[in-house]
Amino acid sequence: MNILDKLESIKNHEITAVDNLDLFCQTIEKNNTKLNVFLETKMDEAHNIAEKIDSKINEGEKVGKLAGLVIGVKSNINVEDFHITAASRTLENYLGSYNASVVENIRDEDGIIIGVTNMDEFAAGSSTETSYFGCTQNPAAPGRIPGGSSGGSAAAVAAKMCDLSIGSDTGGSIRNPASHCGVMGFKPTYGAVSRQGLLDLAMSFDQIGSFASEAAGIALMLETIMGFDYKECTTIDWDVPEFTKMIVSDEESSLKGMKLGLVKQFFEVSDDGIVDIIEESIDNMEENGVEVVELSFDYIDLCLPTYYLINYVEFFSATRKYDGRKYGHRIEEVCGDEVLRRIHTGSYISQKEFSGKYYKKALQARSLIRKEITKLLKNVDAIVGPTVPKLPHKIGTSLEPMEMYAYDILTVIANLAGIPAASVKAGEVNGIPVGLQFQAKPLDDDKIVQLMAGFEQINKI
Ligand code: GLN
Repeated sequence: MNILDKLESIKNHEITAVDNLDLFCQTIEKNNTKLNVFLETKMDEAHNIAEKIDSKINEGEKVGKLAGLVIGVKSNINVEDFHITAASRTLENYLGSYNASVVENIRDEDGIIIGVTNMDEFAAGSSTETSYFGCTQNPAAPGRIPGGSSGGSAAAVAAKMCDLSIGSDTGGSIRNPASHCGVMGFKPTYGAVSRQGLLDLAMSFDQIGSFASEAAGIALMLETIMGFDYKECTTIDWDVPEFTKMIVSDEESSLKGMKLGLVKQFFEVSDDGIVDIIEESIDNMEENGVEVVELSFDYIDLCLPTYYLINYVEFFSATRKYDGRKYGHRIEEVCGDEVLRRIHTGSYISQKEFSGKYYKKALQARSLIRKEITKLLKNVDAIVGPTVPKLPHKIGTSLEPMEMYAYDILTVIANLAGIPAASVKAGEVNGIPVGLQFQAKPLDDDKIVQLMAGFEQINKI
């Protein structure tokens, strides 16, 4: 049953919110020990909320747009009374003391938060292997990483442990695990969703977004969490589109008339098997009315160094509050190698003697990248290509930091430019999912949803 039909069935008393929840609870109970997706769940509390939703429905009261749907939340987003650890020992005993704005939004729409999901420590990673609580298994490719850093949130949807989940994306952390786990993942335009209540990795990149197995699920969550928030100064005051209206089921494909740009460098950096799948998908879209033009992006080699330098500096600054006095442990004493590397390098780059020269250089490079991407997007509706250039490795494979960072080359661009981007499953290489990425102009988030819906439609047929 698709998610919009499920919502209707809950509202029409054909199934109850409790039934929906129970099914997910059973799956979690059966598989969570093996897959390590949720770090904490509150099934009894979720049950009480589900009962309340059902009684509202029975009494004919109006319910929210997520009424009865079960939601997972990445463990770097504050949910009151849950352990919000960001998968770090630093915060192992920290209990969320308030609800992030997005959590309030979800609850206002009668979504049922079932638990918090595993991730890379402080979201600094692309594999979920740096979690203090151990790696999450990729439900779609056993023995392999689920991607990261929101590996738990992607796996939760892939393993059918919830209807929808949310995560954060600083340099790809929603799109990368969505690609590896074979689900959909959406990173909104910077400022379209409130970051209030999110533990920062790099504040000028961080964005909260959603995972789902269908475009309709993505649309529902975006409608729920997007919009101006007086508590958060980077949010944009704009008319949030009705994303669910983009999900049309008639014969006319929503892809028709769309113009997509294919950046040749994005294919050059990707493995052959991945390139084949993405090219096939693009051919398929062309047969369904999409026009494709080739583009060139000359700054691809600049993207990772620019992204990581800014990330290190902003992360270093964000971690100064974890000094062991206010929250939990002093971060340097208990964190893992990757977090420590970023703190040390970030501290070095930020030294007074340099008077910000490296950071400023990186900001200049960032402007250049943003300008170039904006130029490329001017004449197309979206850019299309692979989400991740490599397949997920086997858990435990030892990689150099640069090899790990190489996973991010195609995803950091959207964060550097502040544009919306999403990943959809395009196919498989030896049974391992491969994601296709759409990127669009700022605030063209609805166009991406339309493309996702159209893509889903032609792939069902
Ligand atoms: N892998 C990237 C990094 O390590 C992106 C992380 C993210 O988006 N949170 O910074």
